[in-house]
This record gives sequence, structure tokens and C-alpha cells, in this order.
Amino acid sequence: MQNLASFKEFLSVPQKVVITTHHKPDADALGSSLGLAAFLKKKGHSVTVITPTDYPRFLHWMKGNDEVIVFNEGNEQQSASLIEEATAIFCLDFSNLHRINELGELVRNASATKVLIDHHEEPEDFADFSKWDKKAAATAELIYMLIRDMEETDLLDPDIADCLYAGIMTDTGSFKHPNTTRNVHIITADLMEYGADVSKVSKLIYDTNSLDRVRFIGYALNEKLTVLPEYRTAYFAISAEELKRFNSKTGDTEGLVNYALGIEGITLAAVIIDRTEAVKMSFRSVGDFSVNKFARAHFEGGGHKNAAGGKSDDSLEKTVEKFESLLDDYKDQLLQNGKPINEHA
Ligand code: 5GP
Ligand code: MN
Repeated sequence: MQNLASFKEFLSVPQKVVITTHHKPDADALGSSLGLAAFLKKKGHSVTVITPTDYPRFLHWMKGNDEVIVFNEGNEQQSASLIEEATAIFCLDFSNLHRINELGELVRNASATKVLIDHHEEPEDFADFSKWDKKAAATAELIYMLIRDMEETDLLDPDIADCLYAGIMTDTGSFKHPNTTRNVHIITADLMEYGADVSKVSKLIYDTNSLDRVRFIGYALNEKLTVLPEYRTAYFAISAEELKRFNSKTGDTEGLVNYALGIEGITLAAVIIDRTEAVKMSFRSVGDFSVNKFARAHFEGGGHKNAAGGKSDDSLEKTVEKFESLLDDYKDQLLQNGKPINEHA
């Protein structure tokens, strides 16, 4: 953060803080928010975390979860008042205000000092203080670095460390993605020193599936995976009926896209899902193919170079058609990567 001294001074008196994060928060979004919330509470601020929507059950173990206000679950008025009265609003793990739905305009119009902490590409310029780095693996990594820069790591504890570790673990794909830097490992080691229980967090996030979810993944792998070897692309298209059939809950489709990306020779992987509000898309890529640019150009989305999301107001069928028809324009980029796909090897 450029103006760290004035940021520290700003936080040296008690503030009424609202922390918010993106639509359908993931472990980095929620872990950063609850980790920062616990830290700021220890510094004597009053802090409320407001999420635009609900989030997966496998994140409910995080300390402070019970006090989170979910905006679209009948808490619109309360959220609006909290935002209006806030003296500080922290925006974590997103950098375009449309990513927080109706909350976006409330935050934009609020008189509070706004703080952006994020690692997504092409940020919007709305914050008074900003710690933004697209090279950071996770927002949780930036939160840790900010606390370290403020020389206040003595306030860290095992609950905060678990929250921040969860964000780093998931946004690096368990230390597998190219964003897994030396700094990531150093910070992880530090978080373990402050009490992060890496085995516990991994179990809570990855190994608490419902049987419905496991069966859904089996079904999707068997029946719903389309591979287009000529474009080095693989995708799943999932209907609303299929979600219902497997009693799908928020978070149950998370990670599905990685099975498509894990096929040898694939450059682009997608999951296209008919959610009630819109058709939602998750994109992943290998190498130089930018799914951030792809999602931004065609599906009102964005994210990172190798992991992004988007949406479409067309039907599932039309969206899949559009997705497939776009691939030819990207053929050269899609074919740059590695070996061709051999379906029967
Ligand atoms: P996921 O596929 O896991 O939902 O999202 C992948 C990455 O892209 C995450 O970092 C997520 O925050 C970001 N992302 C997902 N959907 C959108 C979107 O509609 N717009 C933008 N700007 N980013 C998105
Ligand atoms: Mn993140």
C-alpha cells in the first residue's frame, strides 16, 4: 500500500467498519473477510461482514461465520444502513463494484473511506486506499502482507491464520497453480507459526462432501463432459434439472472445471451451468490463453488470466452454442499448448 502511514493513522482510532466481498464468496473471499474482521476487532474497531449472497457450507467453520450478514436473504435494509453509517468499507477479493450486485451502488455512494484489497485483473478506480496486486496468489496473501507491513502480526491467532490459510490453499489449487510463489510458501510457513492447522483446514474444505455431490461429480464426468480435441477444449454443460436431481447446494459444482482442465492436452476448460438467475460460466486455462480476456469480451465476466468467470442471459443451449462458435476465432491460441489430445491413449 502506497500511503501506509496514513492508512495506519486512519486505523489508529476506532472505525465503524463494513467488509464486503464478491457474489458467491469462495474460501479466499470469505477467509480474507473473516480473517481481516477478527484482526480489526482486536484493534478495537466495530466490524460487520456483509456478503452479497450465500456461500458454501464447507466454509461455515470459519470464526465469525455466524455474524456474517447475507445481503439477499432479507437483510437488504440492514445492510444499506450499515453501509451508510460505516466510516470504513473494505472491499476484498473483487475490484469491480458490479461483482457485489446491488451492494455495489450502495458502496459507491457511501461516504465511508474505501479500501480495496484484491488480486483480480483490471480494477475499477473507486478506493481511497488500495492494496492491489494481480501477481498475488490470493487476497488472503495480501491481507497477511498488509498486517505484516503494519507491524501488527502480534495480533494474529490460530483462527485468523486458519481463515487466511484457507484462501491461499484454495486460490493456489493446493499449491499447484503457477501463482504458487516462494512468497506464498513463506507466508504459509508464517501462518503455521501463528497456529494455522493445514490438515484440519484441508479436511474441512475438501473432504466434507455430501454423497449427493460425489454422485453428481460421477454423473457429470460420465455423461456431461464434452471434449473438442480440435480446439483443445473440454467443458461441462449442466442444466437446472440436473442440479435439482442431485440436490445441488451452493459450492457443489466448485472444482468440477478442474477435471476438464486435467485432461492431457487441454488448453481451455469450462463449466456452463443453468442457474435460475442466469447461465453462469467458470473458465480455466493453461499457459498464455487468457480466460480473463475471453470472459470479459464475450460473457460479461473476468477474473485472472488462467481462472475467470462470466454469465449469459441466453438459454443454456444458446450459451453452449455461442461458446463453441467462438472457439474458431481463438484456434491459434488454443493450439499453442502442448501435445494434441489422444482420446484413446
Ligand atoms: P470461479 O470460476 O471459481 O467462479 O471464478 C474464477 C475466478 O474468476 C475467481 O477469482 C472469481 O472471483 C473470478 N470471477 C468469477 N466470475 C466472475 C465475473 O463474473 N466477473 C469477474 N470480474 N470475475 C469473476
Ligand atoms: Mn481470490
